[in-house]
Amino acid sequence: MADSFNNACHYFESAADLLGLSANMRRLLQVPEREVKVQVALELDNGEIATYIGYRVQHDSSRGPMKGGLRYHPEVDAEEVLTLASLMTWKTAVVNLPYGGAKGGISVDPKQLSPGELERITRKFVDEIHDMVGPDKDIPAPDMGTNAQVMAWFANQYEKFYGFQPACVTGKPVELHGSEGREEATGRGVVLCAEAMMKKFGRDLQGVKVALQGFGNVGTFTASILHEKGAKVVAVSDVSGGILNPEGLDIPRLLEYARSNKGVKDFSGTDAIDNAALLAADVDILIPAALGGVLTAENADAVRAKYIVEAANNPTEAEADDVFRRKGIVVVPDILANAGGVTVSYFEWVQNRQHFRWDVNRVRDELGKVMLDGFDRVWTLAEEKKVSLRTAAYILGIGRVGRATVLGGI
Ligand code: GLU
Repeated sequence: MADSFNNACHYFESAADLLGLSANMRRLLQVPEREVKVQVALELDNGEIATYIGYRVQHDSSRGPMKGGLRYHPEVDAEEVLTLASLMTWKTAVVNLPYGGAKGGISVDPKQLSPGELERITRKFVDEIHDMVGPDKDIPAPDMGTNAQVMAWFANQYEKFYGFQPACVTGKPVELHGSEGREEATGRGVVLCAEAMMKKFGRDLQGVKVALQGFGNVGTFTASILHEKGAKVVAVSDVSGGILNPEGLDIPRLLEYARSNKGVKDFSGTDAIDNAALLAADVDILIPAALGGVLTAENADAVRAKYIVEAANNPTEAEADDVFRRKGIVVVPDILANAGGVTVSYFEWVQNRQHFRWDVNRVRDELGKVMLDGFDRVWTLAEEKKVSLRTAAYILGIGRVGRATVLGGI
């Protein structure tokens, strides 16, 4: 993702201008506290040795231990991890979790690895970074290409050094100190934001047409919760291709189909569409839920949706964001829209530290409170300052991090 950090900096700078932050303060808040790059050597099943590069960037700890996912993807590089770490700092602040921001990853395609190789690469990565993470320092979690199983291996390896420490990582399996409702949390948070936004326009989700890019963890839960609430998901795409049915897709059947066919392509009763057509679909809400940098200066004009809810991290380039603002398209930004995942990660960490389990209803209720409080604050700030929801979210996040930094002393 070329220039991803510049893009995030652009959003930061727009908000910093309105906050009247000095150049020194901007630098203090933007420069990461620590960036680590490690060699992750792996013995492949065929006996050969493969070498990968792993990263962990700790961006800011002024509001608490740093928090953020681990991404396994071939496009992971130092710049992308830094960008995503900074987004975690603003995200945890927007929804007011007592955390800072971090991110990590390995530049590897996990689909090319066997389960044994995936386990070994994860354990090796923990061996390389265990001294910089921990329940009171920096707590990893799932992100693209990682899941609850990877988190279970992570915790198990970490505990070989430090003994019982379930709070060292979140997004673990429910059977191994994970939280109910964590897997669905990002998708549920996205839908809560979509619903809160439609309410501001006097509508609910009933019959609202949605196009969804990405059908991984976030995309699938977003689709099924939208479907439950009566929205019509008409277009979906994933790496296999895109599908469209203007009458609305049968999401429960599509979920089964995508599981057994490893993708949504050729689902019966749909037309095949490409990525450009998905982004330009005739819908009310467009939800990018895959990689960053997908909405660009080239394709922004073609977007026909009235609303965009950013389930992915950093999906919108600054030029595209300008186009959306000019056209009056309302964008719920990533640092608010996809904060449901880290919010339930926080609940998992709290449960681990208290040795007390919450049931799924409690998790969902508390998630609803956090997301709606964040949404309302951002919405009100945007109205007061006459700025976009993105700028308002950055103002809220940067303000909180800035105050904590100054109060703590430098
Ligand atoms: N990877 C997710 C994100 O980008 C979740 C992070 C977490 O739970 O710490 O927000």
